[in-house]
Amino acid sequence: MLKKIAVPLLVLSAITAGLAYAYRADIAMKIVDQIVTERMKDPMASIPDGLHIGLCGTGSPFPDPQRGAPCTVVIAGKDMFLFDAGSGAAKQISRMNLSTGQLKGIFLTHFHSDHIDGLGEVMMTRWAQNTSPDKLKLYGPTGVREVHEGFHQAYGHDTEHRTAHHTAALMPPELAGAEVYEFITPSTTPVSVFKAGDLDIKAFAVDHQPIHPAIGYIITYKGRTVVLSGDTKKSAAVAQAAKGADLLIHEALSVDLVQKLQEAAVKAGRAKLGQIFTDIQNYHTTPVEVAEVAKEAQVGAVVLSHIVPPLPLPPMKEIFLGKAPEIFKGPFKIGEDGDFISLPPGSKAIEYTRRWN
Ligand SMILES: [Zn+2]
Ligand SMILES: [Zn+2]
Repeated sequence: MLKKIAVPLLVLSAITAGLAYAYRADIAMKIVDQIVTERMKDPMASIPDGLHIGLCGTGSPFPDPQRGAPCTVVIAGKDMFLFDAGSGAAKQISRMNLSTGQLKGIFLTHFHSDHIDGLGEVMMTRWAQNTSPDKLKLYGPTGVREVHEGFHQAYGHDTEHRTAHHTAALMPPELAGAEVYEFITPSTTPVSVFKAGDLDIKAFAVDHQPIHPAIGYIITYKGRTVVLSGDTKKSAAVAQAAKGADLLIHEALSVDLVQKLQEAAVKAGRAKLGQIFTDIQNYHTTPVEVAEVAKEAQVGAVVLSHIVPPLPLPPMKEIFLGKAPEIFKGPFKIGEDGDFISLPPGSKAIEYTRRWN
């Protein structure tokens, strides 16, 4: 009996496999059709009102196959902003099925290369995809104008090439680059640097000495608040700024793990690299210190980003966190590229989803 069913089933699956192989190109094109149709839809159309954080890069200057360089998307209602543009930011944003063409503005925390390496590509792809007459806006503390000028100059030939090829009507050269809004570097007391409708963004100085300026941001939309620490060592200014915030996104470095790298570098005779591994330990925050800041500020939840060093083995995450989850009792997560965190207005909810292709 079994044989009676099994034989025709085998024949049928062989025929199906044969047909699928014979028509593989047609099938692949049908799948491509579906994917590109989906990808061309307005990504913002399906995002509900609220304050949303997209982690498009949770890494650092370390090469890390699991984490892109610093890159955080903030969506408030229908407006999309980018905080820091590390290397590959434009591609990472695209992997989150979001479009740089819809960026209204970019905010920089400081000018360490890992936070600005991707700026040229983000500005160029924004110019290429944007269809509004509004130029991209670039916000940052004292020095941001020079950073922009450098990138804009480096992309000068590219701007000419693209206008020549696609016409000035399609790629107006005056919309290339960004309109710069340089604010005077604030003290540790937050100052408003952006206000439009229900969205308010404040900047405050953090402690990334000797790096100056180094800024953190408080983002408030319809009663929900997210604080971005930027790069900082444990700082009372962050605890103050994050008082009662719904979500704190904080940088984090494990001294224990970096120390391992330092020792290995010295052992291998790479004294300069060893010294750099020693130096970086004094201007970042350990996860335990982040937990102390979060406890003091009584924030609703913490997500760590700017993870130093890379954590290629799953058990390293526990080592990285150490006793942090015992100190801060609320949700305390290591952020991953593609994490999408939503704070709906009129509630205390924090929803964690993924957008990653
Ligand atoms: Zn950094
Ligand atoms: Zn830095």
